[in-house]
Amino acid sequence: MRYTILTLFPALIRPWTEESILQRAIERGLISVDVRDIRDYAEGKHRVVDDTPYGGGAGMVMRVDVVVRAIEAALPADEVILLSPAGKPFNQRMAEELARKDHLVLVAGRYEGIDARIEHFITREVSIGDYVLMGGEVAALAILEATARLIPGVIKEAQSHQQDSFSTGLLDYPHYTRPPEFRGLGVPEILISGHHAKIAEWRRKQALKRTRERRPELLEVAELTPQDLAWLDEFDAGSE
Ligand code: SAM
Repeated sequence: MRYTILTLFPALIRPWTEESILQRAIERGLISVDVRDIRDYAEGKHRVVDDTPYGGGAGMVMRVDVVVRAIEAALPADEVILLSPAGKPFNQRMAEELARKDHLVLVAGRYEGIDARIEHFITREVSIGDYVLMGGEVAALAILEATARLIPGVIKEAQSHQQDSFSTGLLDYPHYTRPPEFRGLGVPEILISGHHAKIAEWRRKQALKRTRERRPELLEVAELTPQDLAWLDEFDAGSE
């Protein structure tokens, strides 16, 4: 997978790709991340990328001509994604869909955002949540992180992401590691029993319980087995 990230602040993004899993994925040729400065596509001595808004008002608006030149220089791409609080909410399902593409161009805005005519030059507009960031860089990194880890080989444990929160439609079950006791807090006995079938059952029940307590709306769309439904009934009856 190739990622091209268009930003006015490349130095905010590059260090993120120089550590840990992303760095290894790049070294192993599983992904590439090309971070480009939108200002390089501006014209004139001052390389101006923004201007005052038509109609007046506070703030500056990024110029469509400059951003489109940056986008077109990055083509061909499967998707050109504009990061915007007004976009479609990003979620695990969208991450899975995007992770199957070959080349994503991620466009990070700044100031009041980009001239609205940009909509004719992108394939989708994506928001990472109902809040306003100072710029699209963190949003671009969120998409990079969430999609890259789904690309085969990027994460060591092949099954690791298949049991993550949301991948199964449920929140993840709780994890524990050494020490076995910390300040009087133990770990659930079942996890040190060595009984794999019982551990799997306990984990599934915990995922169901957590989801019901914290995000009950997810249960309405999760794929639940007859056994899951029976366990949920047991929780409701208070027998668990
Ligand atoms: N005036 C815009 C509005 O109210 O919708 C906010 C612009 S924001 C200060 C600057 C840039 O940050 C946006 O162009 C976008 O690229 C990015 N951004 C801010 N919040 C975001 C979010 N929740 N999801 C994705 N991108 C976001």
